[in-house]
Amino acid sequence: MNGLGTANCPAWCRMDHSGESPMSHEGHTNAVPLAADGVQFLEVRTVQYAAEDSDSGDLAAAHIPLVEVAHHVDGRYRLINLSSAQARALADALLRCADAANFARHPDRLRPDALEQ
Ligand SMILES: [Zn+2]
Repeated sequence: MNGLGTANCPAWCRMDHSGESPMSHEGHTNAVPLAADGVQFLEVRTVQYAAEDSDSGDLAAAHIPLVEVAHHVDGRYRLINLSSAQARALADALLRCADAANFARHPDRLRPDALEQ
């Protein structure tokens, strides 16, 4: 166990469950700012919910670690839960788009493998 969690927590859990029985586990939150004023940003983290605490109520999805993306705008937010495969596909798509956008602005800084896929 590396985080703050209990002995029943997965190694990646960073929640402080002190004094309670964990109903969910959460990893480190990665924040991605979308605006300079800090009003709009993304949060990305690994989560694992118990069945009764699952947003979707999908029993099959309970107890499975998911990648949670929260889009915060003006104090409100939306959650997107992705499987690890979906998160990897999203990361790959983001990298491809970032490379294309970067290439459009800075053709001399293209990663060598970016156009081979
Ligand atoms: Zn935990």
